[in-house]
Amino acid sequence: MLWIIVAILLGLSLLTWIFLIYSLFQEYRYATLFIDMLPFYQPLNFFALLSVVVSSYLILYIYEWSPPQWIAPLVLSIGLILNLSLIYFFRKWSNCYKLSVYADFLDELKKEQYSVKRFSEFNQTPQLDKNKIHVFLRHDVDLSLNRLLNIIKIEKEKNISSTLFFRLHSEKYIFEKSIPIIQYLHSEGFEIGFHYEVLSQTEGNTEEALVLFTKELNKLREYTPIKVVSPHGDKYSNQKIWSLVDKAKLDVWSTYDMKRDIYITDAGGKNMFKQHGSHIFDKLKEAKLGDVVQILIHADWWY
Ligand SMILES: [Zn+2]
Repeated sequence: MLWIIVAILLGLSLLTWIFLIYSLFQEYRYATLFIDMLPFYQPLNFFALLSVVVSSYLILYIYEWSPPQWIAPLVLSIGLILNLSLIYFFRKWSNCYKLSVYADFLDELKKEQYSVKRFSEFNQTPQLDKNKIHVFLRHDVDLSLNRLLNIIKIEKEKNISSTLFFRLHSEKYIFEKSIPIIQYLHSEGFEIGFHYEVLSQTEGNTEEALVLFTKELNKLREYTPIKVVSPHGDKYSNQKIWSLVDKAKLDVWSTYDMKRDIYITDAGGKNMFKQHGSHIFDKLKEAKLGDVVQILIHADWWY
């Protein structure tokens, strides 16, 4: 009986691992949960290893099969290899999303050759200074307001102002909760944008989506000025309606309209280390004077 309880517990830990891996690769909306679980990943890993071993022995016991002697070291080795690969993979992955890495990146942006601008400055400035690298730093606020505030705290310390694109229908925060944060950020000199997902809401109905676009933009404008929008990426690919939006009448433009020389993004929580161990942030070093660099960071991944 005790063995069955132990096996169930360990089996559950294995399932947790499968869920975590699945959430990382398939279901972006679970990302915050995944990050929240990171401190536990080593104990989980240990239990996953144990569950492999115990479950195997339990199966042998139930079926009353006395295995040849080499079975035990084989099961143990497979469990160990699985365990070590998980540790290796998660170490590598989690190291690219440390807030300290982001803070170092901001220090780089503070250097003399860079000029970090709010998104609305792109259209308002007819001629960008040819002696600077122009950096437009943006955050699409997909899931977590708390993680956003972690990033904002660092930006405030470094005296860097980004542009923040808020959703009205996040799976993880309700719009009303974001209003005081939006107002606070606006008063602190950050620019606010609209992260639209109207095509997803109307399940692909373009006409309804266009009506909704105006309605939601105006709703957000009740709290803060909005000049720029960015589309939320999901299966409905919201940027598709942008060509139909009456930009002049609504007085907005999209991040997609920006002609950029370099684009740096953490979209999808991908591994930020490119080949040969260089981080995606190193792409910044390829920028030349006069270039426009757009950087998109999702706070949800950073911890
Ligand atoms: Zn998004």
